Amino acid sequence: MITGRTQLLGVAGYPVEHSLSPAMHNAAIAEMGLDFAYLPFPVAPDDLERAIAGFAALGGVGLNLTIPHKQAIVPLLAEQTAVAQAVGAVNTIWRGDRGWCGTNTDVAGFVAPLKDEANWGDARAIVLGNGGAARAVVAGLTQLGCAEIVVVGRNAEKLAVFAESWTNSPLKVRLQVYTMEKLPELLPQTRLLVNTTPVGMAGDGERTPVSAQLLDRLPADGIAYDLIYTPRPTRFLQLAAARGLRAIDGTTMLVRQGAEALNIWTQQAVPVETMQAALLRHLA
Ligand code: NAP
Repeated sequence: MITGRTQLLGVAGYPVEHSLSPAMHNAAIAEMGLDFAYLPFPVAPDDLERAIAGFAALGGVGLNLTIPHKQAIVPLLAEQTAVAQAVGAVNTIWRGDRGWCGTNTDVAGFVAPLKDEANWGDARAIVLGNGGAARAVVAGLTQLGCAEIVVVGRNAEKLAVFAESWTNSPLKVRLQVYTMEKLPELLPQTRLLVNTTPVGMAGDGERTPVSAQLLDRLPADGIAYDLIYTPRPTRFLQLAAARGLRAIDGTTMLVRQGAEALNIWTQQAVPVETMQAALLRHLA
């Protein structure tokens, strides 16, 4: 119910109508019994600065940022976290004493289902792809204390730029980069294999970023993690499950990045299962 005291949250993107965040956040807000509302805001690229100033003037509490605003928001912030700085993108902002503060909750969202696993200090993780999502994954693996982070991509030049981009990172990231040909040799000593490429997304659902034969090289206690959330499961995760590997799909990261943002805005424990259920209902 909207009242005279309802506080405003939302997501700014362009386009934004396909965002899954309003369904997840409003379900959690209802469960928490809070007088908040979370709305989608279509904000054209040239309007971001005015939109943020207007949102502050209206007393808005916080926003998620999605494409195309995740980098453009940075110069409009008074502060950003080291994680956001390292990733080079901000997806969550809130109001501080000096103005808007920003962070990147994709990192905590990615890490959430891996935290309970022990011995990351002995483990190798392979990240497939070197785009925007791979940056959050590399930051997350660094936070976990993963011993060896290996990024495997299809373009040697882009991989070199990716590796170079972490040089002055506030997170002290150490990583190696290789092209795909190296994958068969790397897999047998690998604990975690993360797909951050769009290969296997809905519309392309029969494809997998690694073949069944390659996946066979992952040790029996290996974990397959796909950032893709539709289809569910992806072909990659079907193959992993058939081999008895732990398989984590992209809905977990999506829900957990949202829960982390809602926790920042409300400073209260967030019902993750309620967000997950709302997301799955929406995807269905
Ligand atoms: P992006 O910036 O475009 O990066 C995509 C990466 O995948 C690039 O490194 C690209 O290689 C590589 N790639 C693309 N097509 C490929 C192919 N056919 N074979 C091998 N590599 C290929 O995209 P992004 O923002 O990182 O998103 C990637 C995926 O993660 C999407 O499916 C997105 O939905 C998902 N995602 C999920 C969450 C979540 O919360 N679950 C969050 C963020 C993203 P090049 O560099 O060589 O072009």
